[in-house]
Amino acid sequence: MAADATTATTIFRFQFVPYWCRPARAEIPRHSLTIYLEASETNGPICVLAAAAACLLGPAQRPMLSTPPVTIHDLGHGVYAAILTEPLSLALNANSLFIVNDSGVVVVDAQFTRVATLANIAALRRITPKPVRYVINTHWHDDRIAGNQVYQDSFPGVRFLAHANTPADLIGLGRPNRGDQVRYAPAAADRYQRLLEAGLGLDSTAASPAEAAAVTSALGIIRQYVAEHSGYREVLPEGITGAGQTLVTEGRTIELRWFGRGNTRGDLVVYLPDQGIAATGDLLVAPIPLGFNSYPSEWIAVLDSIAALARLSWCPATAR
Ligand SMILES: [Zn+2]
Repeated sequence: MAADATTATTIFRFQFVPYWCRPARAEIPRHSLTIYLEASETNGPICVLAAAAACLLGPAQRPMLSTPPVTIHDLGHGVYAAILTEPLSLALNANSLFIVNDSGVVVVDAQFTRVATLANIAALRRITPKPVRYVINTHWHDDRIAGNQVYQDSFPGVRFLAHANTPADLIGLGRPNRGDQVRYAPAAADRYQRLLEAGLGLDSTAASPAEAAAVTSALGIIRQYVAEHSGYREVLPEGITGAGQTLVTEGRTIELRWFGRGNTRGDLVVYLPDQGIAATGDLLVAPIPLGFNSYPSEWIAVLDSIAALARLSWCPATAR
């Protein structure tokens, strides 16, 4: 992972999510948007949001993912990428960015399951004992937000920030999506489990070792999510309006920028101009975009805006 971010902007994709239990409803706008850009320069309070989304399956009696694998990449300047190295599959936990300042930490994105967020916090603890002051949720999908309650319970006074559309979408879309996931995921997971045990993939043809590993991982995540649902507590972030805000914390400039609608209508890009690092949530996902209540015709302009931030380098750990 390159730490020479002075000349290049590192883009992280924070991969996402499960969408198999509910048809994606891509909204295709009739006209395209041209870039909303420029973060404002206020230091002010930011926004909020809350969220729930993603799909889950599975009976609690199934084996669970006990220790999600977190790999830490030191990007320099007190910035770390926490990459969950689960195979790309139907369910994923988000990667996070840790921004370690003099007396506190800013975290970009929580995870899909609380156990994964706990693993991330444990990884953070191996870097620093400093408390988390802010959690920035890049959008409303549950893989970014379901772990908020772990941060709230672990760090008194921590603030949660997101784009202003995100809290509303978490309520309007996330809550029913979570309900559907918990309702329908177990049956889907049971089917996938049967296919797996028969040596088959999701299309009922012979599963390759890689496909079997991916489905196995997804099943663990799904069952964990469902098992955690009874203890789930929604934590809505504060919402930032307009094209963005600049959060200056302990001398570090963190731009929270909104370039228009893409993966959701509230995608925040967390940009560290002095370090040349950008966390893009699910706006950038390899090898394919993960569209879920998305705006595909506007998404491209959003990516162009990100590309215009600086010369880009790509985080190799995200090539999942
Ligand atoms: Zn997403």
